[in-house]
Amino acid sequence: MTVRTRVAPSPTGDPHVGTAYIALFNYAFAKSHGGEFILRIEDTDQTRSSRESEQAILDSLQWLGLSWDEGPDVGGDKGPYRQSDRLDIYQKYAHQLVEEGKAFYCFATADELAQMRAEQSAQGLQPKYDGRGLRLSETEIKAHLDAGDPYVIRMKIPEEGSFKFNDYLRGEVEIPWEQVDMQVLLKADGFPTYFLANVVDDHLMGITHVFRGEEWLNSAPKLLKLYQDFGWDIPELGHMPLLRNPDKSKLSKRKNPTSILYYQKMGFMPEALLNYLGRMGWSMPDGREKFTLADMIDNFDIKRVSLGGPVFDVDKLKWLNGLWIREELSDEELAQRLVDWAYNRETLMSILPQAKTRLEVFSDLAPLAAHFVSGIPEYDPALLTQKLGEEKFRDSMQFFIWELDNLRQWDKDVIFGIAKTLADYFEIKVKDFLEPVFVAITGKTSSTSVVDAMEILGPDMSRARLRVALAHVGVSKKAAKKLEKSYRDYKAA
Ligand code: GLU
Repeated sequence: MTVRTRVAPSPTGDPHVGTAYIALFNYAFAKSHGGEFILRIEDTDQTRSSRESEQAILDSLQWLGLSWDEGPDVGGDKGPYRQSDRLDIYQKYAHQLVEEGKAFYCFATADELAQMRAEQSAQGLQPKYDGRGLRLSETEIKAHLDAGDPYVIRMKIPEEGSFKFNDYLRGEVEIPWEQVDMQVLLKADGFPTYFLANVVDDHLMGITHVFRGEEWLNSAPKLLKLYQDFGWDIPELGHMPLLRNPDKSKLSKRKNPTSILYYQKMGFMPEALLNYLGRMGWSMPDGREKFTLADMIDNFDIKRVSLGGPVFDVDKLKWLNGLWIREELSDEELAQRLVDWAYNRETLMSILPQAKTRLEVFSDLAPLAAHFVSGIPEYDPALLTQKLGEEKFRDSMQFFIWELDNLRQWDKDVIFGIAKTLADYFEIKVKDFLEPVFVAITGKTSSTSVVDAMEILGPDMSRARLRVALAHVGVSKKAAKKLEKSYRDYKAA
């Protein structure tokens, strides 16, 4: 048997370090067994998926030094490798399950289901699909279908007992069926959900081992039941521990930058980041901290993954990166890396139009443009609040960050438009709104245009700097709740 593993990211935002971590362990497992590693794009959530995000994921994983034997860009004989290109396959399998009595149609409207959940909550019950579709007669189903009523297909789930399986890393896991919902497999728009598409693809693509994040553990019963319903062999399934912030909470961009592009922009070496991800829950038999991907594969044993949540600590990563720079790069190589990273003509050409109007002598350039090539600037946090006061700064900055988090088109005019709209909303002048933004981005109170700087710095570095600024003031739990609500109202208005 050829070992085949895969990583199956959903292209719904920045390429996440968690994706790279899961990719790395699947890759190392496959390669240490002389097997194959596949990349599949799970873009069944059409409202959240984008091609830009897909490209950024491919580019980031490649930058890290991972490669795949089959994937949407390189092809392969089990393709297509993008789920939105495989809709007819999922539809066929969903209907097959209905015909075999393992899945069923549900014609309930969104309103009806909302009412069902509200009634359950009112009775103090956990909201859950009540199986109404199962109670329809053949004639009722036919009438709905003939009338062209929209429907979803849901899987049947036993009402009692529990599901047991052997997790490759955790041993026996038992989950009561009562906790498992009658999952939608095929949505009204003809798209599959994750569950159906994931099982069909892992089967058709010949995946033998699946290592996925711990957050999927509770959905294992649904996935494994689907294999049984189809009568397919079940791949080995292992759930990797989630990466954590140093305070042990789940790794989140509020506390740590999570986008691989941020680490690239910050000037980390891809080898060091990959090495650090290899240290997440795993270690070399001799305990050495610095190792290459080839070393990792030579010594790999997934059973040695320890399940306590590994902490992704940027300071440790920096320390390791420093070792890589000093021990692995000659001066010549370091020079080349720096040129490739930012000290090149292209970067200079993007910065110069900003700086030129303020130059008197060439030596003005470095201090003026330092923020284009630096990480997080240092400044006196009092500068952030001097114009707006703490509360207004905090509220407007948080709204700004949320707006930018969802921004697809990173363009200075769009960024300025957002600033203008928010300034109006908070009843402040746009100039005053932008003052703390300016400090956060450039570290100074006067410099080149801030929205231009943000466009050049790109979304990951810009957002990281704004988040650090917000963190200087801090958002209490209570304030965060209130802000979330007012942001929802703002979006709804
Ligand atoms: N698309 C899922 C994700 O992005 C894949 C999970 C899995 O590996 O099954 O996490």
